Amino acid sequence: MRRKRLQTNDPHIQALARIVGGENSILYKKEDLIAYDCDGFTVHRHLPKAVVFPKNTEEVAAVVKYCHEHDLPFLARGAGTGLSGGAIPLNGEVIISLVRMKRLISVDLENRRAVVEPGFVNLKLTNSISDRGYYYAPDPSSQYCCTIGGNVAENAGGAHCLKYGVTTNHILGLEFVLPNGEIIEIGKNGIPDPPGYDLIGLLTGSEGTLGIVTKITVRILKNPEAKQTVLAYFDRVEDASQAVSDIISAGMVPAALEMMDQTAIEGVEAAAFPVGHPKDIEALLLIEVDGISAGISEQIEEILRICRNRNVREVKVAQTEEERARWWANRKTGFGAMGAISPDYLVQD
Ligand SMILES: Cc1cc2nc3c(=O)[nH]c(=O)nc-3n(C[C@H](O)[C@H](O)[C@H](O)COP(=O)(O)OP(=O)(O)OC[C@H]3O[C@@H](n4cnc5c(N)ncnc54)[C@H](O)[C@@H]3O)c2cc1C
Repeated sequence: MRRKRLQTNDPHIQALARIVGGENSILYKKEDLIAYDCDGFTVHRHLPKAVVFPKNTEEVAAVVKYCHEHDLPFLARGAGTGLSGGAIPLNGEVIISLVRMKRLISVDLENRRAVVEPGFVNLKLTNSISDRGYYYAPDPSSQYCCTIGGNVAENAGGAHCLKYGVTTNHILGLEFVLPNGEIIEIGKNGIPDPPGYDLIGLLTGSEGTLGIVTKITVRILKNPEAKQTVLAYFDRVEDASQAVSDIISAGMVPAALEMMDQTAIEGVEAAAFPVGHPKDIEALLLIEVDGISAGISEQIEEILRICRNRNVREVKVAQTEEERARWWANRKTGFGAMGAISPDYLVQD
């Protein structure tokens, strides 16, 4: 196949293109770069110098090495859903996009782990193993599009992190490229809590400042035997908040315990998955308990009692998996839903 010629004389762009395999793996024209001028934090916008799309660790390392040797600033980018501005090219960086490194490399059910490339989309992991009774616990609301590499960099959490923890609790091993281009592996054998410094903990949440993650070994979990979800409507935020405290002080750790206030409810009801929540309540709680079947209905009874004690207007338990899924789909549109009721929205995440 004949390679297309680059329409630029910039020697750095020509060199980077050679590293990643030519014109189809690099963007450098202004009209192409505009899509990369910010991430989910849209307040500041700056054009990158170029965007490269490496296909493997060696190409990532070679790009980083080139940038290091030529004093070119660079940054990693997954799906660009980050809300803290980490993928914004403030200094005309070369963006190293990991979206072409999107393979599920292996699944080891016996040892409850999977190995993925950084561009692998979060939800795809659970979708790939759910028919065998397993799932990947960290569930940021952006999970249908954000990448596991981006989750590692942001130490992403989700609705179920109350019981199951955030990304760092589910990472067993990492391969990454240091800022000088060297490739390093930590947690190579995927053993939880190995002796020595907690380097995985250090890397997870470092927002790409310590290295670019190129391979991730994650913990996968067996689906809980039972799961029940409660939806509670409150006239006053104070009552909903007090119910949350009561549930925790009763010694329960729900899998999820989420509150939405009136503005959030207005947004999600105007978005893709309306449930029919009343518009005149101040707050709702979405409470999920899971685990072994024994004891689940007692926990649900206790939660219903606590909500009633705190003047709940209406409280109900999901009757079907469809109903439960609808409630969650509604909740998970919370961020994007603001676009349905407001021209702009700034999150202090
Ligand atoms: C609608 C919506 C809902 C959200 N809900 C949640 C939520 O519930 N919980 C939550 O925690 N976050 C949430 N977020 C924020 C965001 O989705 C997460 O931070 C996610 O982890 C970012 O992943 P990404 O692939 O989009 O990363 P990007 O936005 O592309 O990058 C984020 C940061 O990670 C770095 N990075 C990306 N890939 C790598 C890599 N391979 N190696 C090293 N550094 C890398 C980037 O340089 C940047 O600093 C939400 C965002 C949106 C838009």
